[in-house]
Amino acid sequence: MLFDGIIINISIMLTGFYFISKLTTSPLDAELSLSKKVQVGLCNGLLCFVLMKFAIPTIHYTFIDLRHIPLIIAACYVGPIPTLITAFIISASRLTISFNDTAILISVLYGLLGMTLALCSHYVQRSLFYRAILFSMISLIFICLGSFIVTQDIAKIVKFCLIMTFSSVIGMQFSFMLLKDIRQQKMKVLTYQGQAQRDSLTSLLNRRMFDQVMQSIDLSKKHTVLMLMDVDHFKRVNDNYGHDAGDKVLKDIAHILDSYTAYGRKIFRIGGEEFASILTDCPVPLAKKIAEEIRKKIESNLFELPDNQQINITISIGISSSEQQYDNEPLSLFQRADLALYQAKSNGRNQISYMSDDISLALIANG
Ligand code: GH3
Ligand code: MG
Ligand code: MG
Repeated sequence: MLFDGIIINISIMLTGFYFISKLTTSPLDAELSLSKKVQVGLCNGLLCFVLMKFAIPTIHYTFIDLRHIPLIIAACYVGPIPTLITAFIISASRLTISFNDTAILISVLYGLLGMTLALCSHYVQRSLFYRAILFSMISLIFICLGSFIVTQDIAKIVKFCLIMTFSSVIGMQFSFMLLKDIRQQKMKVLTYQGQAQRDSLTSLLNRRMFDQVMQSIDLSKKHTVLMLMDVDHFKRVNDNYGHDAGDKVLKDIAHILDSYTAYGRKIFRIGGEEFASILTDCPVPLAKKIAEEIRKKIESNLFELPDNQQINITISIGISSSEQQYDNEPLSLFQRADLALYQAKSNGRNQISYMSDDISLALIANG
């Protein structure tokens, strides 16, 4: 009967943890948003309520359950907010099961345990293993003290504490195994997602992401700017210094460009020595200023090659903006930036060029 009860309690708990993990695609940790922490707390509390409903009968009509484990898990993995919410739900729901002196005492005890674990969760910034052991010991001390207050029968208390410790250790083991496994799976998915979005040489966002963002641009919103950047005479770097030197230069250029990433500004590597930036809410004068800054920064930078030689590199930048868009969209944002880049190249390279619709139409009309 006791073993059946423990197995049922552990099964309910593991099912609960599985669904709680499904609340977010991120791993369960302190980095969760406030709303996710609250959701974890509420679901954890609900799980404790179910565990209490399936309490395990032991000896002398004493019941045990594993409601303290979700509390420990919340404190170990996430932090004070879900711990306090879980403790509050345990305390409140204990009173709904029966309302007498013992129920009030147990309810207060779990409230105090919740506060203690919430404080420890905030201040004890040690490894997960250390926190799990510490929080389990604190919980067992509270629970065993509670049983001592409820009954003065030493033999009964000792048996209760032994069963509680035994089932807690098993419950904690299984819970940690499951949560560790889910965490590892989530980390893997996040890593693979990151890799699928990034270019392997420079770690900038890749062409796939560029195409996605371009498709999602709302052209009815003004001040969306596209910059296409192409390294000047890059083939010569490869020819004169070798492919590895070329790779090193591309990485260094990406590093410089990446320093211009900000809220509403994204940088992509869209081809071999071609980069792009999409800037939202950026008026054309500001876009030109940023492009000129980038151009000058690259022009003045000494690029160090693997053999310690230093070389200069220049870049040409074509700019277009949704500001100039006509109602019937004669040329796309990309086509205009591409034309602007072509113009910057044919005017001698190492310069920026802005392509309004008026100029691009005139250029097309002149062939
Ligand atoms: P322009 O000023 O007209 O842009 O001249 P360019 O030499 O930069 O342009 P071109 O398109 O003729 O050559 C681009 C070169 O970039 C050719 C290619 O070997 C090199 N390249 C493309 N991807 C990579 C890369 O990942 N690593 C290295 N090292 N070179 C690359
Ligand atoms: Mg090119
Ligand atoms: Mg080039």
